[in-house]
Amino acid sequence: MEFKLTKEQALIQKMVREFSEKKIEPIAELIDQTNQVPEEIFKGMAELDIFGLPFKEAYGGANAGYDSYVLAMEQIGRASAGPAMTVSAHSLALGAIDKFGDEEQKRKWMPSACKGKSIAAFAFTEPGTGSDPVQITTTAVKDGDHYVLNGTKRFISNAAYPGPIVVFAKDNESGRPTGFIIDKLCEGYSVSKPWDKIGLHGGSLLDVYLNEVKVPKENVLGKVGQGYPILQFGISFGKIGVSSVSLGGILAAYEESVKYAKEKKHRGEPIAKFQAIQLRIADIAAKYEASRWLTYRLGCLGNEPGNPMLFAKEAALTKTFVCDTAVDVARIAVDIHGSYGLMNDYKVSRLYRDAIMGPQIEGVSDMQKIITAGVILS
Ligand SMILES: Cc1cc2nc3c(=O)[nH]c(=O)nc-3n(C[C@H](O)[C@H](O)[C@H](O)COP(=O)(O)OP(=O)(O)OC[C@H]3O[C@@H](n4cnc5c(N)ncnc54)[C@H](O)[C@@H]3O)c2cc1C
Repeated sequence: MEFKLTKEQALIQKMVREFSEKKIEPIAELIDQTNQVPEEIFKGMAELDIFGLPFKEAYGGANAGYDSYVLAMEQIGRASAGPAMTVSAHSLALGAIDKFGDEEQKRKWMPSACKGKSIAAFAFTEPGTGSDPVQITTTAVKDGDHYVLNGTKRFISNAAYPGPIVVFAKDNESGRPTGFIIDKLCEGYSVSKPWDKIGLHGGSLLDVYLNEVKVPKENVLGKVGQGYPILQFGISFGKIGVSSVSLGGILAAYEESVKYAKEKKHRGEPIAKFQAIQLRIADIAAKYEASRWLTYRLGCLGNEPGNPMLFAKEAALTKTFVCDTAVDVARIAVDIHGSYGLMNDYKVSRLYRDAIMGPQIEGVSDMQKIITAGVILS
């Protein structure tokens, strides 16, 4: 057991922390207010290989593994959740292509996305369900050497950026969900205006409309009718990203609380002298450490996931713990700030709005617990 970063991991963590502090943090409020991430931030992240961090060099990646990905994402998430969510959703989609795509698909779709020249997306959720693959209604009808897709996908991150999107549809051959790789913005593909969500601003979220979209059969991801394992295993890798983004939020709330406790004065002395504040700081510190080691461990497991079911369990329990803890920590941070914590002028109010999104995305917390218990009790 080794609880120490390697030289390479420490270097990546430091580089991304410096970039995030210099380039992202100063405009975090702007990202929150405008719900947009400026192009320079994407360029800067691309220069640091963030878009391809865990993927193989042969496909344009940096080959740094999911362990380094977690370290980088924590630092971006600490500065602003929007750019971090963009990378997380992108890496979820690329991870599915990496794990289930054939050689030709990987060579076609991954290099430009790994270099940040295009941004990938992953579309499972529909107006009727975000948790149950049996209920998806998007259809794929085989027509000669291609499929024709029709349907609506709801709450899709990165849906309007050029690049590949992995879409799940029920095909008419197997009657089960199948994964397809589609070039976004192709004929028949359109998007809604962005959803006006309460947090994670800068992470773009739109509905996708598929109207008679013709997809060559070569774009089937994995096998026809095998969308469910792709979803389950693919989303497990996505949970590495979401956990890391929430971890970054926990770190930011922790740091902000310590700073405020030392700055805010009562009768000439900082509120840090109150035991009630000290107890809250200790609580946040413990929650950060527990979340950190769980997330770092999940990153390491992502490099060698082994049995998909066991990995799915570890990803589910980590995602639930860290995202739920992020909500607790953000709430405690607001408490430490008193009424100031409820004002939009104070950073913790943004951290709270961001934190409460985590438990609902990439599988709600209850579903994660059901996955975890299902594997333990099988
Ligand atoms: C910021 C953001 C980004 C997102 N990005 C993407 C994306 O890129 N791609 C994508 O496909 N989706 C994305 N989503 C959608 C998200 O993953 C889903 O909304 C989420 O999985 C929950 O689905 P739902 O909202 O339909 O809830 P539902 O599935 O309708 O669940 C509603 C409630 O019912 C409970 N429930 C549901 N089924 C069961 C069950 N079997 N047993 C017990 N309880 C149950 C749930 O716990 C929950 O409390 C995003 C959402 C957000 C907010």
